[in-house]
Amino acid sequence: MRVRPFVDTHFHLSWTARSLLELNLKECSTVECVLSKVREESERGGTYGGWVIGSLLHYKLAKAITKELLDEVSDKPVSIATRDGHMAVVNSKAIEISGVDCSYSGVECVEGVPTGRLYEDAMLLVRRKMPDPPIGKLVGAYKAVLDDLYSNGFLQIHAMTSRWLEWELVKSLNHKVHVIPYMRKEAFVKGSPGIKLFADGVLIYGTALMNGKGRKLIDERELSQWLIRGKEEGFRVAVHAMGDEAIDLVIRAYEMAGKPKRVLRIEHAAITRDDQLEYLASEGIEVSVQPGIMESVGVEEFKSILGPNWKRFMRVRDMIELGVKVYHGSDSPVGPWRLKEVFKYYKLLPKPVDDLETVLKLMSSGWEIHGERPSGELEVTDDLEVRVL
Ligand SMILES: [Zn+2]
Repeated sequence: MRVRPFVDTHFHLSWTARSLLELNLKECSTVECVLSKVREESERGGTYGGWVIGSLLHYKLAKAITKELLDEVSDKPVSIATRDGHMAVVNSKAIEISGVDCSYSGVECVEGVPTGRLYEDAMLLVRRKMPDPPIGKLVGAYKAVLDDLYSNGFLQIHAMTSRWLEWELVKSLNHKVHVIPYMRKEAFVKGSPGIKLFADGVLIYGTALMNGKGRKLIDERELSQWLIRGKEEGFRVAVHAMGDEAIDLVIRAYEMAGKPKRVLRIEHAAITRDDQLEYLASEGIEVSVQPGIMESVGVEEFKSILGPNWKRFMRVRDMIELGVKVYHGSDSPVGPWRLKEVFKYYKLLPKPVDDLETVLKLMSSGWEIHGERPSGELEVTDDLEVRVL
């Protein structure tokens, strides 16, 4: 079958590339495994810059690891982040260097003392002090990720939560995969094609805004100001909104901003109501969905975390039927991005998207978001191998 080249509309390039250089904890299923890997890494002299930096940790293990356990296995500053990217566990050295204390929201504390677990925005406290990998290695890792994407049919990616340094490095690569950066708020520079903002947290930590709970990570006024600025300066505003109450918040901000066209897009839209989908359809607000995020938790466990909300999870089929402009993203490294694995997760949705044609359309239509025309074609075989023609 011949189709247009793929666009991954929600890809974390920096984080996917860095995870190739960091201590990879993806395969660990026990606390002992994590601790022994941290110990080895520390004895080797650390990951880089004198720190032990790990990633892709399963969130359940992160909840069982404390700063004290990390202190026992390393005398260097340690930060290990979960695969969902919304939590990290750090040791006492890292806490001390970063000035983490209980006055910041997102710093988990017991009796006024940080446990070492940092959620969402609080992770930035440590990230600001963490060393960057050597530039040459970082560029090599970007190239490896982009080469792999290209050979699997992706010719454009929207790189969420980018930073200025990365954008410059990626531009210098001049790669066949066109990278469109959506900058972190604190790294936003004039001339960037997009910004990524967060309305709430994630489903697995109960930080998504729904059922009257969760963490509100931006207020309506600030979000509406970004939307107005996006309209004036011509950049896109991508807002992470997991829970339906986060989507309510985004819609309020959109209305405060005077409903600017072709500025706002919503990332994830994991839990939605019918009235919201109808609104997004009528306003032409784009949505990027990532069924593959189930992989980072495990499908059965993910369902049990959601409970009765499972039937409202990522309603891609309903979105299509109601006329919402919906596009595929992987959220890599949270979810997988190769067609074969992606298709598996579309089929596992509560209302499965089980025909290949629809999935291919979701994967090839993201070109519209930045008004570009794809060049070239892909050949997709029956066993879902992809070749760029
Ligand atoms: Zn993401």
